Amino acid sequence: MDCRTALKLNERYLAEGLSDTVLAEYLEHIQGCESCRDNLMTDYSITRALDQINHNMDFSTDYSKELAQKLERSRQYLLRKKRLRKIRIAIVVLLMLLSVPLSVASSFGTAKFYKPEGSEESLRLQFYGIPETSDPIRNGIIEYNDEAVKKLRALEEGE
Ligand SMILES: [Zn+2]
Repeated sequence: MDCRTALKLNERYLAEGLSDTVLAEYLEHIQGCESCRDNLMTDYSITRALDQINHNMDFSTDYSKELAQKLERSRQYLLRKKRLRKIRIAIVVLLMLLSVPLSVASSFGTAKFYKPEGSEESLRLQFYGIPETSDPIRNGIIEYNDEAVKKLRALEEGE
């Protein structure tokens, strides 16, 4: 960002009206450019003084400390945003990594064949997840499969 753009943005910065992207570029410039820092200091002092006159407040004596704190708050705000973005990306990556073993596990599901007596054809029973092991996602299917096997066994014993 150049000095002219930074200068034009002072007012919007003080009114907290900059988007995150512009704010990042603006702060970077202000940090590295003494003349723009001075200009911002002037604008800040005028804004604050008018504010204090309008609201009948006592004049603050340390605008420069106030502005430094304001700039620091803006930096912290951007840092928090950046951290949140990183966490969000990490979660997406984690979900992608998790989805691979899950889909592999389910595609490897154990198949068992069951041939009822007197029948020509076998039934193919597909078990998902790791048999005898708790798998919160596939538990429902394992239970369903167990129930189906029980019913088939009962049928077999009945015949
Ligand atoms: Zn500058």
